[in-house]
Amino acid sequence: MTNITRKDFLNGIAWTAGAAMLPAAVTRALESGPDASAEEYFLSQGIGPSDPRYYPPALTGMRGSHPGSFETGHALRDGTHWDEVGAASETGEHYDLIVVGGGISGLSTAYFFRKLRGPKSKILILDNHDDFGGHAKRNEFTVGGKTLIGYGGTQSIEALSLYTPEAMGLLRELGIDIQRFEKYYDQNFRRSHGLRASCFFDRGAFGVDKLCAQRADSVHFGTPTDPHDLEAFLAAAPLAEQAKRDLRRLHFEKVDYLAGKSAAQKKAVLEHISIKTFLEQHAHVHADVVKYYQQRTHGLFGVGIDAVPALSGLWFMPEGVKTGLALSDESGEMGAEPYIYHFPDGNASIARMLVRALVSGAAPGSTMEDIVTARMNYAALDQASSGVRIRLNSTAVRVKHVGDPAKAEAVDVVYVNAGKAHRVRGAKVVLACWNVVIPYLCPEMPQAQREGLAYCVKVPLVYGTVAIQNWNSLKRLGAGTVYCPASYFSEVNMDFPVSIGSYHYTQTPDDPCLIHLVRTPCKPGLSTKEQHRAGRAELFTTPFETFEHHVRDQLGRMFAAGGFDPARDIRGITINRWPHGYAYDYSTLWDPQWLEGQAPHLIGRKPFGRIAIANADSGAVAETSSAIEQALRACREVLAMPS
Ligand SMILES: Cc1cc2nc3c(=O)[nH]c(=O)nc-3n(C[C@H](O)[C@H](O)[C@H](O)COP(=O)(O)OP(=O)(O)OC[C@H]3O[C@@H](n4cnc5c(N)ncnc54)[C@H](O)[C@@H]3O)c2cc1C
Repeated sequence: MTNITRKDFLNGIAWTAGAAMLPAAVTRALESGPDASAEEYFLSQGIGPSDPRYYPPALTGMRGSHPGSFETGHALRDGTHWDEVGAASETGEHYDLIVVGGGISGLSTAYFFRKLRGPKSKILILDNHDDFGGHAKRNEFTVGGKTLIGYGGTQSIEALSLYTPEAMGLLRELGIDIQRFEKYYDQNFRRSHGLRASCFFDRGAFGVDKLCAQRADSVHFGTPTDPHDLEAFLAAAPLAEQAKRDLRRLHFEKVDYLAGKSAAQKKAVLEHISIKTFLEQHAHVHADVVKYYQQRTHGLFGVGIDAVPALSGLWFMPEGVKTGLALSDESGEMGAEPYIYHFPDGNASIARMLVRALVSGAAPGSTMEDIVTARMNYAALDQASSGVRIRLNSTAVRVKHVGDPAKAEAVDVVYVNAGKAHRVRGAKVVLACWNVVIPYLCPEMPQAQREGLAYCVKVPLVYGTVAIQNWNSLKRLGAGTVYCPASYFSEVNMDFPVSIGSYHYTQTPDDPCLIHLVRTPCKPGLSTKEQHRAGRAELFTTPFETFEHHVRDQLGRMFAAGGFDPARDIRGITINRWPHGYAYDYSTLWDPQWLEGQAPHLIGRKPFGRIAIANADSGAVAETSSAIEQALRACREVLAMPS
């Protein structure tokens, strides 16, 4: 394997031919020295959203909650903030609505508000990131002259039954026709290229690095359903013989591991034990089986099988377990609908369509097809002439009624942009930021409400997007989606095969493509919330170089037998770090059974004076549908307040 050093490989961008294809600002960032990031370059050169060179989706290196997005918020949390920024200057701006948070919930709030109140509404959206969309983040790369579009967060339109008619109506009004994905998503791509669902056994835990095919159709979360696939997998897998016998049993012997109990009793048991406990104490499997499943739940729950209730994990249990227990699938949606409702940049396309609808001149076009390759005009986002303004790189630090919250006619919002505090005034405010931030913004909220908001701990996770110059090695190995039970990244997948409008997914193995990696930092043995806190601390202290090292090391070991050479084949890396990721979903293992209306997120999201609360957190569901639904609720609440 060719060696590649930090000097050759700077902030995710291979410092060779590919750099010539990069936007000029990023290229110059690279030229400015080995320690400068494109982000720092933007800042040092004063390139803000009004500059035509400003184009965050093309930035690589550390993205997600990127450097520059969270420091002000953390200083506010630590009580050091006001010493640093001083008094706020008056902007003199006055809005009908100020929205804090420019994710899908904040953007939807603005959309609903304008729709319900009228097109003359004046709205300001503040967001602390350099791009809008929140978790719905677009990653772009240019390799060999071809633009590759990937997603750095919110992946797909999923769990369609969770969409209320209004939420689905919003997607339709934006121009999204869900059925068209059936044509745009090439459901035969992986099979036609022999790309299978595989498992990578890591030498650290299993004694040897080994990539083993699991099933032919390469579905997400693939686990063998065919006895031949299972036998081939077990023949190659570096597992103890007893573990192999146990896996055969779990898959194909219909055993009721909770025999003698009614369905309700079984559910009660499974709600209060982890998947790990179920496997160890009820299915009595060999330790290798537990090791094999340990990270299976990472991508969805942010923790391993030690902290996921067995009932919630039933969906990925082998057929023999499910049929033996004879319970309906509690996860309902999982596996029931095809996982194909995916734009190349994930739900960032929804955010981009919302912005296009809100701000005139923000993007050309009008369809779900043309949004994919449309270049956003960031300079249009914050124009005085526009009814809706989106102000990026702006962290709200204070949201305070002008006078008594019960009688006030306005709310002042102070935000920090480039180290300076500014004050704007709004008739109403919707906080579509993260719940945990709100008590710091509004310390005068009732204590019970602040406690409700602070209760939930968002799930930390990392989405890595890696551009490779061709995928010949993956084709040779027949690996399309890979589950990694004990590696740094728990999932390594070729990007979804979606072609929309003028954007075409890679067609031949000689073409460049994107690889998607998932890591959820957690600490088995602790409660879910403690694991999330520990994971978040890890993310904030892990430098890009560490992620880069693991990307190159893991991909190198996984695909070496196919001829993959990280130094030659990797053309760009973006690490989307989300220390505050998924909204917290209560766990039957750790959270009490709340009385009706008493769940912390319900107490936390009550309107306060002229302030309402949106964001997926306020629905306690980490889904786009929740972000939209909560936006509509918050919007109706502010509209019901006196004007
Ligand atoms: C990695 C990842 C993958 C996901 N995949 C899916 C998926 O496939 N399908 C799905 O339906 N859902 C998915 N989700 C859930 C996703 O969170 C929601 O779908 C939705 O995007 C959340 O939108 P939101 O506006 O509620 O929150 P966010 O997107 O988090 O937006 C809130 C915004 O407020 C900003 N903010 C916070 N504090 C301040 C402040 N003080 N001042 C200014 N701005 C502030 C934040 O930085 C952020 O930009 C995923 C989430 C993550 C993290």
